[in-house]
Amino acid sequence: MTFLDEARRIEAYTVERRRDFHKHPELGFEETRTAGIVAETLEELGLEVTTGVGGTGVVGLLRGKADSQVLLLRFDMDALPIQEENEVDYASETPGKMHACGHDSHVAVGLSVAKLLASVRDSLNGTVKFVFQPAEEGGGGAMRMVEAGVLKDPVPDYAMGMHVWNDKPVGWYGLTRGPAMAGAEIFTIKLTGKGGHGAAPHQTVDPVVASAQIITAAQTIVSRNVSPLESAVISICQVEAGTAFNIIPQEAVLRGTIRAFKPEVFAIVENRLEALAHGIAEAMGCTAEISRERVTLPVTNDSALVEVMADVVRACDPEAKIGHDLRTMGAEDFSFMMDEIPGCFIFVGSANAEKGLDYGHHHPRFDIDEACLPYAVAILAQGAAEILKEQPKSSINSK
Ligand SMILES: [Zn+2]
Ligand SMILES: [Zn+2]
Repeated sequence: MTFLDEARRIEAYTVERRRDFHKHPELGFEETRTAGIVAETLEELGLEVTTGVGGTGVVGLLRGKADSQVLLLRFDMDALPIQEENEVDYASETPGKMHACGHDSHVAVGLSVAKLLASVRDSLNGTVKFVFQPAEEGGGGAMRMVEAGVLKDPVPDYAMGMHVWNDKPVGWYGLTRGPAMAGAEIFTIKLTGKGGHGAAPHQTVDPVVASAQIITAAQTIVSRNVSPLESAVISICQVEAGTAFNIIPQEAVLRGTIRAFKPEVFAIVENRLEALAHGIAEAMGCTAEISRERVTLPVTNDSALVEVMADVVRACDPEAKIGHDLRTMGAEDFSFMMDEIPGCFIFVGSANAEKGLDYGHHHPRFDIDEACLPYAVAILAQGAAEILKEQPKSSINSK
């Protein structure tokens, strides 16, 4: 029996679980129902289970025949504050909440991988640490789990994660060599001027006009300061000021995000943004306060793991189309778990345009073709077994 045969044998279970999680979406750090089902299932399979890790996170240890190597497998559990528009019998039963990113599938795949690997634990050359993570969608769930010790006792030698990917059809797999997803930072610029009457601007210091200049100037950072051969994004997505049409406000607040792959590029963007905000604010008589918060690191795949996983994908799905160069400025907080550990984040094509299952992630009609699920289960299970067996020599300095 191959791992794919086994994954097909439990395909109905995987789909049923995925639909159940889809019906019952829970937002970040509220995943108590989901985490409860996860913990119960892992316990039934004989794993050593710890709950409440970094909030609602669950960790399950599956010890194989040897203690030598530890592979961390991570699955995120949270849904989004979106009202579902799909008319399917497994549609969300919770108004205003929806699994619109596919994390319902990730939890279901994770449980099925645990089933497959538990059944072959006597031949498993090491330990698999199953990590079910809360609050991936900007809530900092991965960091909370790291702070709670998920990377200790036992320390993982490798880390692997997956995401269903509706930009690509079923049968496509993304195994990016090197940097795959950008690091993300949130920034806030608070401009303080002097409020007053809209008809008497000369008696005020207008933070709205200053903020407009900063928004425009910020767009020169990527075009004029970052090398054209590098990648960076700076987007100001929130602009808050004013309470009425005839009052020049005292304050204006700008909020946005910086994305880049390299620390040196981050530094350029951060330094230029600070210089522009302070310089423009001062020139216009305002003061600027800037705060920044790093939300994720870049996701950079270890090349040795990518090669092992490419062989596994081809073994599980001979028709597979493998993309080695997908890169997105989108972010993933799994980056905190694979920062110091050689890791691999796999995208699993999940769209089917003929069935209308190709809405993008976070869309109210997002849904996947479940035909990708048994492949995802087989690839992760076989990949875990293979990595523990082969113990690929990390090329971590490829980061
Ligand atoms: Zn998402
Ligand atoms: Zn997601």
